[in-house]
Amino acid sequence: MSLLHVSDLTGGYGPIKVLHGVDLTVEEGEVVALVGRNGMGKTTTIKTLTGELPAMSGDIRFDGTSIATVSPNQISRMGVGLVPEGRRCFSNLSVEEHLKLAERSGPGGHYWTRERVFEMFPRLKERRANLAFTLSGGEQQKLAIGRALVTNPKLLILDEATEGLAPLVRKDIWLCLESIAKAGLSVIVVDKNLKALARIAQRVVVISKGRSVWEGAAQAFAEDESLHQQHLGV
Ligand code: ATP
Repeated sequence: MSLLHVSDLTGGYGPIKVLHGVDLTVEEGEVVALVGRNGMGKTTTIKTLTGELPAMSGDIRFDGTSIATVSPNQISRMGVGLVPEGRRCFSNLSVEEHLKLAERSGPGGHYWTRERVFEMFPRLKERRANLAFTLSGGEQQKLAIGRALVTNPKLLILDEATEGLAPLVRKDIWLCLESIAKAGLSVIVVDKNLKALARIAQRVVVISKGRSVWEGAAQAFAEDESLHQQHLGV
């Protein structure tokens, strides 16, 4: 049984249908990259998976249970950790407070604690007493990743976690994601950097016009320029 099994999912914003049939599976310990041109429905897929937007039809099964009508909070408790697009840190909470509020044993166990996050991101430790609004974009991104990890999820979902960051910070984040993936956590990652994706993902799913239109090995996708042309326009 797959950890996540999404079948023929449709959804959108109120009456506006954006997803017209997304199929997606994630196996235990697998990293799946979700790619596609801008505005094709990747973030909408993530928001529907995590309960922020309602599914119009189709099904989402996580760890054997249908979560298509479950609240975001409950989905998080069931073991889905989200690093949302735009990070969504609370400007008036400190680094430590963010992590403390989120920290718990979860369906993924109890490995991730504040201290483990601080080991992975020493810069966050240095700034543990600082309010989030004083952090750089990269530091906020690391905080958003740490906040998802300390819930000890079974599935970590990252929506554009390296967007708009300086190259060195990106590299730092990719290295951390690589080690998280190697440790066996299941991950869905939305990003534009195909090379970096190929290093951590086993599989790629392409979303186009609200549908999953291609699926295959991440390595094969990264090496095939005709696929990039066809699906990403690059
Ligand atoms: P990007 O890489 O630009 O983030 P994406 O693949 O994640 O792209 P989505 O953000 O899921 O794309 O957007 C899919 C479609 O949904 C787009 O046509 C977008 O205009 C539309 N959309 C996004 N947010 C809303 C909203 N709040 N209300 C109505 N339509 C929306």
